[in-house]
Amino acid sequence: NINADGKIDYVFKIVLIGDSAVGKSQLLARFSKNKFDVDSKATIGVEFQTKTLVIDQKTVKVQIWDTAGQERYRAVTSAYYRGAVGAMLVYDMTKRQSFEHMTRWLEELRGHADKNIVIMLIGNKCDLGNLRAVPVEDAQEFAERENLCFMETSALECTNVENAFLTALTEIYKIIG
Ligand code: GDP
Ligand code: MG
Repeated sequence: NINADGKIDYVFKIVLIGDSAVGKSQLLARFSKNKFDVDSKATIGVEFQTKTLVIDQKTVKVQIWDTAGQERYRAVTSAYYRGAVGAMLVYDMTKRQSFEHMTRWLEELRGHADKNIVIMLIGNKCDLGNLRAVPVEDAQEFAERENLCFMETSALECTNVENAFLTALTEIYKIIG
């Protein structure tokens, strides 16, 4: 898939944000390595993963940053957001509070990031549908009001993970490419 000469046309930085335990690290593992860790420890050390893919015949290297356990309010530093062209705003659809906190995360993101940043709202853990605490309509309404893309995913069952990242990347490409 990569150009024979290994040339990278674009590097896009995407940040993952949202409360602790919503599944950010698992979404990243699923997208970058197609892997899900059954007993994942809290992220330590690893700052980002990369994945190279082709969009519109261009080679795009995506650098996806994960909060290394800094999810407390205002603990994520501005260096984390610097240069980001996309953000995945993740909540756990079985935890109402993680959805309520999206307003804060969005505020923080908008305070730090470029104003053209593409933002994708993600309701993760849709495999636990019987425990749903956030109706899809609530999330859609919020996404529309705030002008975000929206998708429900399952890092566990591999539902919509690639789709969510590719949708964000395609939007980013439309703006930057
Ligand atoms: P983070 O703190 O946001 O990085 O969350 P993690 O990726 O560490 O996941 C927190 C917990 O949720 C772990 O026990 C994961 O196994 C679990 N988890 C993550 N994604 C999913 C998912 O899509 N479905 C289910 N059922 N559990 C998930
Ligand atoms: Mg994590």
